[in-house]
This record gives sequence, C-alpha cells and structure tokens, in this order.
Amino acid sequence: MTSSSCHCNGVTFETTGEPSFNAVCHCSICRKTSGADFYHSLGWSSKSVNITGKENLQEYKSSEAASRQFCKTCGSTLFITIPAYDMTITTPALYDDDLKDFKDITYHCYYGNRVIDVTDGKTKYNTDSKGDLLDDAGKVVAK
Ligand SMILES: [Zn+2]
Ligand SMILES: [Zn+2]
Repeated sequence: MTSSSCHCNGVTFETTGEPSFNAVCHCSICRKTSGADFYHSLGWSSKSVNITGKENLQEYKSSEAASRQFCKTCGSTLFITIPAYDMTITTPALYDDDLKDFKDITYHCYYGNRVIDVTDGKTKYNTDSKGDLLDDAGKVVAK
C-alpha cells in the first residue's frame, strides 16, 4: 500500500495492489489539466483507491468519458475517473513513498501531441494505444 496526497493534505489517498497500466500521456487534455508537459498515469480499479477528504474535491468533466478531480484549496490535480470502466487514474507525482514501483512505464500515448521529446526508448503511439508507432523523435516507424 502506498500513501499520497495533494499539496495541502486536504485530500489523501491510498492505493493497493498493482496498477492495470503505467503509461505517459501527451494529449492536450492531460497537459492542460495538469499544467505539465505530459501526464504520467497509473490506472486502477476504482475500488483499489481509498480516498479521504472527498469533500475537498472539485470535479471537472474533461471529456465525454472522463472527469478530473482537483483539490478545492491547493488546486492539485488528483484523479481522473472513467466511470464506464470503473477506473481511477492517479499519478506518481502525488505519492509520498515507494516511487520506485512506478518507474517502469510501458508506453507513451498521444506522442504526436508532445511538447518535448522523451528519449527513453519506450513504445510511443502517435495517438491512443492502437495508433501508429513513433520513435523518440516522433518519426513514424510502424503503422
Ligand atoms: Zn490540497
Ligand atoms: Zn491524455
């Protein structure tokens, strides 16, 4: 079990088990809602995420399928929820310990929308995980 929180500690949460995916998204929604160049996402079954301080969450529906939850006080981006898949997405940036468990990402998605290159040699999809494969510089290497 690992513990984590927003910056002001108004919302804390624990996750149990292993995430169903560990990937980096470069899409414009992830970039703008997180305020970062990309969003390192860990996908969990929602029952694996135990949240304390839910009254401090503000929800924003960022697309048809997904909503984002922020701390009302400090603005930290905390969760992405996808109700149709009963999924809650968190990010390693919020964890207080055991960060080593999340270093082995499996792929990048929406790499075609990136603002910086990431030269880690990992699998990179132009769009979602069914899209064309790109190299670290963004050149199509497989369709
Ligand atoms: Zn906060
Ligand atoms: Zn995204």
